[in-house]
Amino acid sequence: MDPLLRWARKNQSATIELIREFVECESPSDSPSGIHRFRVLLGDSVRDIAVSQFTPSGAFLCKFRLPGRQKEGCLLALGHADTVWPIGTIRTMPFRRARGRLWGPGVLDMKAGLAFFIFAMRALVELDIPVPNQVALLVNPDEETGSKTSRAGTETVARQSNAVLVLEPGTGLEGKAKTARKGIGAWTLKVRGVASHAGVDFAKGSSAVVELARQIEVIAGFTDLERGITVNPGVISGGTRSNVIAAEASAEIDFRVPFLVDVKGLDRKFRSLKPFDKRCSLELTGSLNRPPMERTKATIALFNLARRLAADLGVNLEESSTGGGSDGNFTAALGIPTLDGIGAVGEGAHAAHESILIGRIPDRVALLAKLTCESAISYTT
Ligand SMILES: [Zn+2]
Repeated sequence: MDPLLRWARKNQSATIELIREFVECESPSDSPSGIHRFRVLLGDSVRDIAVSQFTPSGAFLCKFRLPGRQKEGCLLALGHADTVWPIGTIRTMPFRRARGRLWGPGVLDMKAGLAFFIFAMRALVELDIPVPNQVALLVNPDEETGSKTSRAGTETVARQSNAVLVLEPGTGLEGKAKTARKGIGAWTLKVRGVASHAGVDFAKGSSAVVELARQIEVIAGFTDLERGITVNPGVISGGTRSNVIAAEASAEIDFRVPFLVDVKGLDRKFRSLKPFDKRCSLELTGSLNRPPMERTKATIALFNLARRLAADLGVNLEESSTGGGSDGNFTAALGIPTLDGIGAVGEGAHAAHESILIGRIPDRVALLAKLTCESAISYTT
Protein backbone atom coordinates (compact mmCIF):
# COMPACT_ATOMS: atom_id res chain seq x y z
CA MET A 1 0.00 0.00 0.00
CA ASP A 2 1.09 3.58 -0.63
CA PRO A 3 2.95 4.76 2.51
CA LEU A 4 1.05 8.07 2.60
CA LEU A 5 -2.28 6.26 2.37
CA ARG A 6 -1.20 3.86 5.10
CA TRP A 7 -0.20 6.80 7.30
CA ALA A 8 -3.52 8.60 6.60
CA ARG A 9 -5.47 5.49 7.61
CA LYS A 10 -3.45 5.05 10.78
CA ASN A 11 -4.10 8.69 11.65
CA GLN A 12 -7.77 8.81 10.71
CA SER A 13 -8.99 9.05 14.33
CA ALA A 14 -6.68 11.97 15.01
CA THR A 15 -7.87 13.65 11.79
CA ILE A 16 -11.50 13.22 12.86
CA GLU A 17 -10.65 14.66 16.28
CA LEU A 18 -9.22 17.81 14.65
CA ILE A 19 -12.28 18.10 12.40
CA ARG A 20 -14.49 17.89 15.50
CA GLU A 21 -12.51 20.68 17.20
CA PHE A 22 -12.75 22.82 14.05
CA VAL A 23 -16.50 22.29 13.63
CA GLU A 24 -17.25 22.94 17.31
CA CYS A 25 -15.35 26.25 17.09
CA GLU A 26 -18.14 28.16 15.32
CA SER A 27 -16.97 30.85 12.91
CA PRO A 28 -19.67 32.52 10.79
CA SER A 29 -18.52 35.29 8.44
CA ASP A 30 -20.23 37.96 10.57
CA SER A 31 -18.56 36.98 13.84
CA PRO A 32 -15.04 38.46 14.05
CA SER A 33 -14.53 36.88 17.49
CA GLY A 34 -15.63 33.46 16.19
CA ILE A 35 -13.31 33.74 13.20
CA HIS A 36 -10.47 34.83 15.46
CA ARG A 37 -11.01 31.91 17.85
CA PHE A 38 -10.97 29.52 14.91
CA ARG A 39 -7.75 30.92 13.51
CA VAL A 40 -6.05 30.69 16.90
CA LEU A 41 -7.18 27.06 17.09
CA LEU A 42 -5.87 26.42 13.58
CA GLY A 43 -2.57 28.13 14.44
CA ASP A 44 -2.21 25.95 17.56
CA SER A 45 -2.84 22.82 15.52
CA VAL A 46 0.15 23.52 13.23
CA ARG A 47 2.45 25.15 15.81
CA ASP A 48 5.04 22.35 15.63
CA ILE A 49 5.21 22.22 11.81
CA ALA A 50 4.51 25.77 10.58
CA VAL A 51 5.10 29.44 11.22
CA SER A 52 1.80 31.33 11.21
CA GLN A 53 0.87 34.99 10.99
CA PHE A 54 -2.11 37.24 10.44
CA THR A 55 -1.97 39.14 7.16
CA PRO A 56 -2.97 42.80 6.68
CA SER A 57 -6.16 41.66 4.91
CA GLY A 58 -7.30 39.72 7.97
CA ALA A 59 -6.35 36.32 6.64
CA PHE A 60 -4.21 33.71 8.35
CA LEU A 61 -1.05 32.47 6.62
CA CYS A 62 0.79 29.31 7.66
CA LYS A 63 4.20 28.55 6.17
CA PHE A 64 5.10 24.93 6.69
CA ARG A 65 8.51 23.59 7.68
CA LEU A 66 8.77 20.43 5.63
CA PRO A 67 11.54 17.91 4.95
CA GLY A 68 13.90 18.39 1.99
CA ARG A 69 16.63 20.97 1.43
CA GLN A 70 15.94 22.16 -2.13
CA LYS A 71 13.11 24.68 -2.05
CA GLU A 72 12.19 26.06 -5.44
CA GLY A 73 8.86 27.70 -6.08
CA CYS A 74 5.84 27.75 -3.82
CA LEU A 75 2.61 25.81 -3.55
CA LEU A 76 -0.36 27.68 -2.11
CA ALA A 77 -3.22 25.85 -0.42
CA LEU A 78 -6.27 28.09 -0.18
CA GLY A 79 -9.09 27.87 2.32
CA HIS A 80 -11.51 29.89 4.41
CA ALA A 81 -12.23 30.08 8.12
CA ASP A 82 -15.79 31.34 7.81
CA THR A 83 -19.00 29.35 7.52
CA VAL A 84 -22.59 30.28 6.70
CA TRP A 85 -23.83 28.96 10.06
CA PRO A 86 -24.74 31.43 12.84
CA ILE A 87 -23.24 31.08 16.34
CA GLY A 88 -25.34 28.61 18.32
CA THR A 89 -26.11 26.30 15.38
CA ILE A 90 -23.87 23.70 17.04
CA ARG A 91 -26.53 23.22 19.76
CA THR A 92 -29.23 22.11 17.30
CA MET A 93 -26.89 20.58 14.71
CA PRO A 94 -24.10 19.12 16.86
CA PHE A 95 -20.97 17.51 15.47
CA ARG A 96 -21.65 13.80 15.28
CA ARG A 97 -20.47 10.60 13.68
CA ALA A 98 -23.21 8.40 12.18
CA ARG A 99 -23.88 6.24 9.13
CA GLY A 100 -20.29 6.41 7.93
CA ARG A 101 -20.25 10.20 7.95
CA LEU A 102 -19.27 13.19 10.04
CA TRP A 103 -22.05 15.76 10.41
CA GLY A 104 -22.10 19.36 11.60
CA PRO A 105 -22.13 23.01 10.57
CA GLY A 106 -19.29 23.80 8.18
CA VAL A 107 -17.85 20.26 8.26
CA LEU A 108 -17.86 19.99 4.45
CA ASP A 109 -17.45 23.67 3.62
CA MET A 110 -14.71 23.62 4.66
CA LYS A 111 -13.43 22.70 8.10
CA ALA A 112 -12.63 19.12 7.08
CA GLY A 113 -10.67 20.30 4.03
CA LEU A 114 -8.45 22.44 6.28
CA ALA A 115 -7.91 19.51 8.68
CA PHE A 116 -7.07 17.24 5.73
CA PHE A 117 -4.37 19.61 4.52
CA ILE A 118 -2.85 19.94 7.98
CA PHE A 119 -2.70 16.14 8.28
CA ALA A 120 -1.24 15.88 4.79
CA MET A 121 1.60 18.16 5.97
CA ARG A 122 1.99 16.08 9.14
CA ALA A 123 2.30 12.93 7.00
CA LEU A 124 5.15 14.48 4.98
CA VAL A 125 6.95 15.47 8.19
CA GLU A 126 6.50 12.15 9.99
CA LEU A 127 7.41 10.04 6.95
CA ASP A 128 10.29 12.44 6.22
CA ILE A 129 9.31 12.82 2.56
CA PRO A 130 11.29 15.62 0.91
CA VAL A 131 9.20 18.44 -0.51
CA PRO A 132 10.94 20.36 -3.32
CA ASN A 133 8.98 23.61 -2.89
CA GLN A 134 7.75 26.02 -0.22
CA VAL A 135 4.23 25.34 1.04
CA ALA A 136 1.82 27.96 2.37
CA LEU A 137 -1.76 27.69 3.60
CA LEU A 138 -3.86 30.85 3.35
CA VAL A 139 -7.11 30.90 5.31
CA ASN A 140 -9.47 33.75 4.51
CA PRO A 141 -12.11 35.17 6.87
CA ASP A 142 -14.81 36.26 4.42
CA GLU A 143 -15.13 33.80 1.52
CA GLU A 144 -18.81 33.11 2.13
CA THR A 145 -19.63 36.80 1.81
CA GLY A 146 -17.66 37.41 -1.39
CA SER A 147 -14.04 37.82 -0.12
CA LYS A 148 -14.26 41.61 -0.39
CA THR A 149 -11.60 42.33 2.23
CA SER A 150 -9.35 39.34 1.57
CA ARG A 151 -9.25 39.35 -2.23
CA ALA A 152 -6.21 41.61 -2.67
CA GLY A 153 -4.24 39.61 -0.10
CA THR A 154 -5.12 36.34 -1.82
CA GLU A 155 -3.93 37.73 -5.14
CA THR A 156 -0.65 38.95 -3.61
CA VAL A 157 0.17 35.54 -2.11
CA ALA A 158 -1.02 33.73 -5.24
CA ARG A 159 1.31 35.79 -7.47
CA GLN A 160 4.24 34.40 -5.49
CA SER A 161 3.00 30.83 -6.01
CA ASN A 162 3.44 28.34 -8.84
CA ALA A 163 0.23 26.42 -8.26
CA VAL A 164 -2.86 26.72 -6.08
CA LEU A 165 -4.85 23.92 -4.45
CA VAL A 166 -8.27 25.04 -3.21
CA LEU A 167 -9.53 23.03 -0.25
CA GLU A 168 -13.22 23.42 -1.14
CA PRO A 169 -15.30 20.22 -1.17
CA GLY A 170 -15.41 18.10 -4.30
CA THR A 171 -18.50 17.77 -6.47
CA GLY A 172 -21.03 15.10 -5.53
CA LEU A 173 -20.45 11.97 -3.48
CA GLU A 174 -17.63 11.04 -5.89
CA GLY A 175 -15.74 14.17 -4.83
CA LYS A 176 -14.94 15.32 -8.34
CA ALA A 177 -12.30 18.03 -8.63
CA LYS A 178 -13.38 21.42 -9.98
CA THR A 179 -11.54 22.72 -13.00
CA ALA A 180 -13.97 25.51 -13.93
CA ARG A 181 -16.19 27.85 -11.99
CA LYS A 182 -18.45 30.53 -13.32
CA GLY A 183 -17.77 34.20 -12.72
CA ILE A 184 -20.27 35.85 -10.39
CA GLY A 185 -21.61 39.35 -10.31
CA ALA A 186 -24.55 41.36 -9.06
CA TRP A 187 -26.64 44.23 -10.28
CA THR A 188 -29.09 46.38 -8.38
CA LEU A 189 -31.86 48.00 -10.42
CA LYS A 190 -33.63 50.93 -8.77
CA VAL A 191 -36.79 52.27 -10.37
CA ARG A 192 -38.13 55.70 -9.47
CA GLY A 193 -41.74 56.40 -10.42
CA VAL A 194 -44.27 59.05 -9.48
CA ALA A 195 -46.33 58.57 -6.32
CA SER A 196 -49.99 59.41 -6.23
CA HIS A 197 -53.32 58.36 -4.69
CA ALA A 198 -54.45 55.11 -6.26
CA GLY A 199 -58.10 56.22 -6.07
CA VAL A 200 -58.12 59.98 -6.45
CA ASP A 201 -55.24 60.65 -8.86
CA PHE A 202 -54.53 57.33 -10.54
CA ALA A 203 -53.58 58.78 -13.91
CA LYS A 204 -51.09 61.22 -12.35
CA GLY A 205 -49.05 58.41 -10.88
CA SER A 206 -46.41 56.29 -12.52
CA SER A 207 -45.85 53.01 -10.75
CA ALA A 208 -42.29 51.99 -10.01
CA VAL A 209 -43.60 48.52 -9.10
CA VAL A 210 -45.26 47.99 -12.49
CA GLU A 211 -42.19 49.35 -14.28
CA LEU A 212 -39.92 47.02 -12.30
CA ALA A 213 -42.14 44.04 -13.13
CA ARG A 214 -41.79 44.80 -16.84
CA GLN A 215 -38.01 45.28 -16.53
CA ILE A 216 -37.68 41.95 -14.72
CA GLU A 217 -39.28 40.17 -17.67
CA VAL A 218 -36.60 41.68 -19.91
CA ILE A 219 -33.76 40.94 -17.48
CA ALA A 220 -34.84 37.31 -17.02
CA GLY A 221 -34.53 37.03 -20.79
CA PHE A 222 -30.78 37.73 -20.55
CA THR A 223 -30.32 34.14 -19.34
CA ASP A 224 -28.75 31.95 -22.01
CA LEU A 225 -28.66 28.41 -20.63
CA GLU A 226 -26.94 27.01 -23.68
CA ARG A 227 -23.97 29.32 -23.13
CA GLY A 228 -24.13 28.85 -19.37
CA ILE A 229 -25.10 32.48 -18.70
CA THR A 230 -27.66 32.87 -15.94
CA VAL A 231 -29.36 36.02 -14.69
CA ASN A 232 -31.48 35.77 -11.56
CA PRO A 233 -33.58 38.63 -10.18
CA GLY A 234 -33.54 37.09 -6.72
CA VAL A 235 -34.85 39.85 -4.46
CA ILE A 236 -37.42 42.56 -5.21
CA SER A 237 -38.92 45.28 -3.07
CA GLY A 238 -41.06 48.32 -3.68
CA GLY A 239 -44.10 50.33 -2.77
CA THR A 240 -45.44 51.41 0.58
CA ARG A 241 -49.20 50.70 0.61
CA SER A 242 -51.65 49.13 -1.80
CA ASN A 243 -53.56 52.41 -2.18
CA VAL A 244 -50.43 54.36 -3.16
CA ILE A 245 -48.96 54.25 -6.65
CA ALA A 246 -45.41 53.19 -5.87
CA ALA A 247 -42.67 55.80 -6.13
CA GLU A 248 -39.82 53.35 -5.70
CA ALA A 249 -39.00 49.73 -6.38
CA SER A 250 -35.79 47.77 -6.72
CA ALA A 251 -34.41 44.39 -7.63
CA GLU A 252 -31.19 42.59 -6.71
CA ILE A 253 -29.94 40.46 -9.55
CA ASP A 254 -27.29 37.72 -9.47
CA PHE A 255 -25.52 36.81 -12.70
CA ARG A 256 -23.10 34.02 -13.61
CA VAL A 257 -20.88 33.71 -16.67
CA PRO A 258 -18.57 30.86 -17.73
CA PHE A 259 -16.13 33.11 -19.61
CA LEU A 260 -14.82 36.62 -19.03
CA VAL A 261 -15.76 37.58 -22.60
CA ASP A 262 -19.43 37.05 -21.70
CA VAL A 263 -19.36 39.92 -19.21
CA LYS A 264 -19.15 42.64 -21.87
CA GLY A 265 -22.23 41.47 -23.74
CA LEU A 266 -24.21 41.16 -20.56
CA ASP A 267 -23.04 44.60 -19.38
CA ARG A 268 -24.22 46.08 -22.65
CA LYS A 269 -27.64 44.47 -22.25
CA PHE A 270 -28.06 45.85 -18.73
CA ARG A 271 -26.86 49.32 -19.76
CA SER A 272 -29.34 49.40 -22.63
CA LEU A 273 -32.39 48.95 -20.39
CA LYS A 274 -34.86 51.79 -20.99
CA PRO A 275 -37.99 52.59 -19.00
CA PHE A 276 -41.26 51.43 -20.61
CA ASP A 277 -43.03 54.31 -18.88
CA LYS A 278 -41.13 57.53 -19.70
CA ARG A 279 -42.08 59.06 -16.36
CA CYS A 280 -40.06 56.36 -14.58
CA SER A 281 -36.29 56.38 -14.32
CA LEU A 282 -33.87 53.49 -13.94
CA GLU A 283 -30.64 53.44 -11.97
CA LEU A 284 -28.27 50.48 -12.30
CA THR A 285 -25.30 49.69 -10.08
CA GLY A 286 -23.18 46.60 -9.95
CA SER A 287 -20.39 44.64 -11.53
CA LEU A 288 -18.58 41.34 -11.73
CA ASN A 289 -17.44 40.24 -8.27
CA ARG A 290 -15.56 36.99 -8.93
CA PRO A 291 -14.05 36.49 -12.40
CA PRO A 292 -14.69 33.07 -13.93
CA MET A 293 -12.22 30.28 -13.24
CA GLU A 294 -11.78 29.17 -16.81
CA ARG A 295 -10.63 25.69 -17.74
CA THR A 296 -7.15 26.69 -18.88
CA LYS A 297 -4.42 24.41 -20.21
CA ALA A 298 -2.44 24.89 -16.99
CA THR A 299 -5.39 23.87 -14.85
CA ILE A 300 -6.03 20.81 -17.01
CA ALA A 301 -2.38 19.82 -16.63
CA LEU A 302 -2.69 20.19 -12.86
CA PHE A 303 -5.87 18.12 -12.89
CA ASN A 304 -4.19 15.41 -14.96
CA LEU A 305 -1.38 15.26 -12.40
CA ALA A 306 -3.93 14.94 -9.57
CA ARG A 307 -5.76 12.26 -11.53
CA ARG A 308 -2.57 10.24 -11.94
CA LEU A 309 -1.64 10.62 -8.26
CA ALA A 310 -5.18 9.63 -7.22
CA ALA A 311 -5.01 6.54 -9.44
CA ASP A 312 -1.88 5.48 -7.50
CA LEU A 313 -4.15 5.53 -4.43
CA GLY A 314 -6.79 3.44 -6.17
CA VAL A 315 -9.13 6.40 -6.70
CA ASN A 316 -10.63 7.50 -9.99
CA LEU A 317 -10.57 11.32 -9.75
CA GLU A 318 -12.93 13.00 -12.19
CA GLU A 319 -13.32 16.67 -13.02
CA SER A 320 -16.37 18.92 -12.92
CA SER A 321 -17.44 22.50 -13.38
CA THR A 322 -19.78 24.53 -11.21
CA GLY A 323 -21.77 27.74 -11.14
CA GLY A 324 -20.61 28.41 -7.58
CA GLY A 325 -17.55 30.57 -6.92
CA SER A 326 -14.58 30.28 -4.58
CA ASP A 327 -11.34 32.13 -3.93
CA GLY A 328 -9.93 29.88 -6.66
CA ASN A 329 -11.70 32.18 -9.15
CA PHE A 330 -9.26 34.97 -8.22
CA THR A 331 -6.09 32.89 -8.47
CA ALA A 332 -7.14 31.21 -11.73
CA ALA A 333 -7.95 34.61 -13.26
CA LEU A 334 -4.32 35.64 -12.58
CA GLY A 335 -3.23 32.75 -14.78
CA ILE A 336 -1.92 30.62 -11.91
CA PRO A 337 -2.69 26.90 -12.31
CA THR A 338 -5.52 26.31 -9.85
CA LEU A 339 -7.13 23.02 -8.88
CA ASP A 340 -10.28 23.34 -6.81
CA GLY A 341 -12.62 20.94 -5.03
CA ILE A 342 -9.99 18.60 -3.61
CA GLY A 343 -11.04 19.04 0.03
CA ALA A 344 -13.60 16.80 1.68
CA VAL A 345 -16.04 14.47 -0.07
CA GLY A 346 -19.66 14.73 1.06
CA GLU A 347 -22.86 16.64 0.49
CA GLY A 348 -25.18 19.28 1.89
CA ALA A 349 -22.91 22.35 2.02
CA HIS A 350 -24.91 25.27 3.51
CA ALA A 351 -27.75 22.81 4.33
CA ALA A 352 -28.93 20.91 7.42
CA HIS A 353 -27.62 17.60 6.07
CA GLU A 354 -24.06 18.92 5.64
CA SER A 355 -21.78 15.89 6.05
CA ILE A 356 -18.58 14.24 4.84
CA LEU A 357 -17.79 10.61 4.04
CA ILE A 358 -15.41 9.14 6.60
CA GLY A 359 -14.31 6.52 4.08
CA ARG A 360 -12.83 9.22 1.85
CA ILE A 361 -10.69 10.88 4.52
CA PRO A 362 -7.49 8.82 4.02
CA ASP A 363 -7.31 9.01 0.23
CA ARG A 364 -7.88 12.78 0.22
CA VAL A 365 -5.24 13.38 2.88
CA ALA A 366 -2.80 11.21 0.91
CA LEU A 367 -3.67 12.95 -2.37
CA LEU A 368 -3.07 16.39 -0.86
CA ALA A 369 0.30 15.23 0.46
CA LYS A 370 1.28 13.87 -2.96
CA LEU A 371 0.12 17.04 -4.74
CA THR A 372 2.12 19.12 -2.30
CA CYS A 373 5.30 17.35 -3.42
CA GLU A 374 4.57 17.43 -7.15
CA SER A 375 2.26 20.20 -8.26
CA ALA A 376 4.34 23.36 -7.83
CA ILE A 377 7.59 21.92 -9.14
CA SER A 378 5.98 21.20 -12.53
CA TYR A 379 5.56 24.94 -13.06
CA THR A 380 8.84 26.33 -11.74
CA THR A 381 11.01 25.77 -14.79
ZN1 LIG B 1 -16.33 27.08 0.82
